[in-house]
Amino acid sequence: MVASASAPVPAAQAGACKAGRGALHPAAMLDHEPVIRLSAFALVLVAMALLERGFPRRPQRLSWRRWPSNLGLVALSSGLLRLLAPAGAVGVALWAESRGLGLFPAIGLSFWVAAPLAVVLLDLLIYLQHRVFHAVPLLWRLHRVHHADPELDASSGLRFHPVEILLSLGIKAAAVVALGAPAEAVLAFEVLLNATSLFNHANVAIPGWLDRPLRWVVVTPDMHRVHHSEIREETDSDFGFCLSCWDRLFGTYRAEPRLGQLGMVIGVEGYREDAEQRLDRLLVQPFRPGG
Ligand SMILES: [Zn+2]
Ligand SMILES: [Zn+2]
Repeated sequence: MVASASAPVPAAQAGACKAGRGALHPAAMLDHEPVIRLSAFALVLVAMALLERGFPRRPQRLSWRRWPSNLGLVALSSGLLRLLAPAGAVGVALWAESRGLGLFPAIGLSFWVAAPLAVVLLDLLIYLQHRVFHAVPLLWRLHRVHHADPELDASSGLRFHPVEILLSLGIKAAAVVALGAPAEAVLAFEVLLNATSLFNHANVAIPGWLDRPLRWVVVTPDMHRVHHSEIREETDSDFGFCLSCWDRLFGTYRAEPRLGQLGMVIGVEGYREDAEQRLDRLLVQPFRPGG
């Protein structure tokens, strides 16, 4: 579904649907999409790495030694997506738009209402999907690769098994078509999700006076760290990635870990050894017997 949905969009056809809002030409948008995403990714990653150096939250033992594996996973996932679905979710949005598919066009929602609404609804989808990946044992095996990181920093925000990334794209693509989400909103969401994932995994000490108001809006590093506790009831809380409201609304919000931010144990029992952090071990981890 993902591969077929990402077929090239007839530019003139799609362009007709986008008239009147000064949007990028669809073909130009697809051309620029990787550059926009990669630039934002590199900028936020460097910023977080510098902040982690200057203001670390927790002492780390492995630190940079985990980066080749975590970056290796995101490089593999990106390569796989380029092969299987080169246009990604933005391509799916352009394809749906060129055919007038989805709820928003059906009810005649204007672009300026549909775009922010799509971003918020896609964030809700990611929250719900995250809960499902914790609740279904087979999916948890895939998502456990993310949780098995024994330390947290910006690179943990990239540590997802390629199969989880593929499934996630399939779910997102289905939602994009169902909503008829504008392609610009999908691109903004992709950039936002990537940036917030790097931010909320960062090992950065944000003072309480700033963290408290911030976490009323977005998921902060201290909030998401609770989700990486080895205590299961803490792991099964704070599922949000971008907006913090979903955890508050659905009753999964937990302000602090029981043992405190410095005392809590991060990771998953049985997957904490240094050898488990190798890229090849991470790739096969979900398919190993037991656990
Ligand atoms: Zn999780
Ligand atoms: Zn996480």
